[in-house]
Amino acid sequence: MRLGIDIGGTKTAAVAIGADGELSDQFRMPTGFGAEEVVATALRTVERMTELAGVEASSFASIGIGIPGAVDSGTGRVAHAVNLGLEGLDLGPRLADRLGVEVTVENDVKAAAVGAHHLLGVADGIRAHSMAYLNLGTGLAAGIVLDGRLLRGGHGVAGEIGHIPVDPAGVVCTCGQRGCLETLASGSAIARMWPTDGPLPAKELFAAAAAGDDRAIAVRERFLTGVAAAVRLLVLTADVDDVVIGGGLAALGDPLLAGARRILSEWATDSAFLASLDLPSRVQVIPLGFPAAAVGAALVGEHQWLKS
Ligand SMILES: [Zn+2]
Repeated sequence: MRLGIDIGGTKTAAVAIGADGELSDQFRMPTGFGAEEVVATALRTVERMTELAGVEASSFASIGIGIPGAVDSGTGRVAHAVNLGLEGLDLGPRLADRLGVEVTVENDVKAAAVGAHHLLGVADGIRAHSMAYLNLGTGLAAGIVLDGRLLRGGHGVAGEIGHIPVDPAGVVCTCGQRGCLETLASGSAIARMWPTDGPLPAKELFAAAAAGDDRAIAVRERFLTGVAAAVRLLVLTADVDDVVIGGGLAALGDPLLAGARRILSEWATDSAFLASLDLPSRVQVIPLGFPAAAVGAALVGEHQWLKS
């Protein structure tokens, strides 16, 4: 049995995965803020899972953590994770000391890519195909699995496509560049382009657009064009078979998928090259509630993912 833990800004999700690849136990608990609380949250999660599964922590085949921010997966160190209040934490080594077993740490979007790859593999029976996980949350980032292996790059930056500028006349991004993809296709982009006091700006935007509000339609199209551009970018750089959209905005569901496919189809009518790539058929949205990052964290500890 493998244990995967996804430490998010407010909630931590945990799953146990059996040798058959099926999820056996899963639960969520609140995440503490700051280094000591994040370590304590991870330890509480492991303890609860050992109770649920009826085994010792040392009998898990692997324990993996997915966490936002800059992660050195080789050392298990989290350089910084702003929304968790972390600035330099040796998370992997500290947990290993306490638990007596090795603990793998990976960036949460990269972990989610491994989780989504696993989900597709279970569905299709294909283990070694190439896919990208496009995370549309507050920001935009992707994780890429090539021929069954997670692509990290030399410094863990592979897949950080949210900071590829696509609009020279766009707004200045948090990264300091202008017109990044993230300034068009992310939760923060929608919050900026469609200000509202409601808790779910993206849902409100799509509802207003569906009701015929011209301004909402314009903002929705700008957002969807950014999503479609991200899909095109991932296919043109890595020729992935599938682009699976996840993250908080994936809860938009069918209107998001249909909108992205519509724009990709429109582009294909003007370009025989794009038409030949059949982009609309490659994009999908992850099933609501599937704990991709926790599943991926469990699997990223497997030997095969660590070998380059
Ligand atoms: Zn940027």
